[in-house]
Amino acid sequence: MARKATTIVLKFGGSSVANSECIERISKIAIRESKEHNVIVVTSAMGKTTNQLIDLANQVCPGCDGRELDMLLATGELVSISLAAMAIQKLGHPAVSLTGWQAGFVTESSHNKARIAEIKCDRINKHLELGEIVVVAGFQGITEDGEVTTLGRGGSDTSAVALASAFKADRCDIYTDVKGVYTTDPRVVKEATKLDHISFEEMIELASLGAKVLHPRSVELAKKYNIDLRVRSSFKPENKGTEVISLQRMKDMELTKAVTGVALDTKQAKIAIISVADRPGIASKVFGELGKNKINVDMIIQSVPRDGINDIAFTVPREDMETAKAVCEEILKDIEGSKVEADDGIAKVSIVGAGMLNRPGVASTLFETLSQAGINIQMISTSEIKISCLIDEADATKAVQVIHDAFELEKSSEPIIV
Ligand code: ASP
Ligand code: MG
Repeated sequence: MARKATTIVLKFGGSSVANSECIERISKIAIRESKEHNVIVVTSAMGKTTNQLIDLANQVCPGCDGRELDMLLATGELVSISLAAMAIQKLGHPAVSLTGWQAGFVTESSHNKARIAEIKCDRINKHLELGEIVVVAGFQGITEDGEVTTLGRGGSDTSAVALASAFKADRCDIYTDVKGVYTTDPRVVKEATKLDHISFEEMIELASLGAKVLHPRSVELAKKYNIDLRVRSSFKPENKGTEVISLQRMKDMELTKAVTGVALDTKQAKIAIISVADRPGIASKVFGELGKNKINVDMIIQSVPRDGINDIAFTVPREDMETAKAVCEEILKDIEGSKVEADDGIAKVSIVGAGMLNRPGVASTLFETLSQAGINIQMISTSEIKISCLIDEADATKAVQVIHDAFELEKSSEPIIV
């Protein structure tokens, strides 16, 4: 068996390798693809293994992180790669499993969220020359100093896309347990429909807004290297899934809808600093201090000043709420503020769509829809292809449903290819 002219990367998430039956199923997919291409398989840990390992770690040492946690978490993917390689061999095709470090993944040194610095391709190349299907452990690598690292939860998508780029793969298929990317979470809105196409830009917005199908960093990488990225189901491999394509290709299609998807983020909290002085340097002081404490700020509003004072409100990740509040209280005197309020009962609902470009009226439809449903908007932020509203968490599900209806996402939201 010799090396083929083209290479593809197939990534299988935890649910696609959850048990021996699943592993046999994905092995068949890999073997079928290997008739035409060199195949590099990337797997996640089986089922909920990573969660279980984190639970175990917390039992032994609550809140532990860093080096030892990486040592532990990296074991999850070692189980799935070796089993997958065995299953492929049993079906009659040569295969080899490689850990992240054997596969040449060199990362930066920050444990639990390391970024990939480089992939040394020689080892994988050697196995591809032999005609073997190479099964690589996702989510892990090694530093220049030989320390094991992991890439952050969901990071095996990023491992797969990085391999696709390093090996100039024709395609990178991300196999999961759903049919592809949906207009919104099908568990929230039962009429949610699968999209045939979505642009990298829309996917980045949706992924970072909590649509869990793809790791946001993997989409950023795929966009940067223009990787042909697909999300499909390992349970229905005959289906095409969702193709993630460039914004330009998306624009070249006749977009029939302004909005591609609706995302919900319930992992943020709101901080409001009441009655601060309206003078230069206040915002810089507030956000400078938050930055020093490594707190990411998302939405920000500042009210119109009256009598030389105004209010500043912003959102932060929920787990950082108490720290953010404490940081603001600390500087309250310097900014002449009266008090700091924190609220974790909020949610951010967003619409995303390449079809919004050059189409007026989308924002007003969104606001009108929320107002008709009696939902109050606390903050608004926009970008070229996204509008987000901060609302009460109790209204979140209803908001997603009414917005999904208003933009008619239940009907085919398919762009017509011209
Ligand atoms: N097993 C890791 C996790 O659960 C990596 C991944 O699945 O992408 O986060
Ligand atoms: Mg995943």
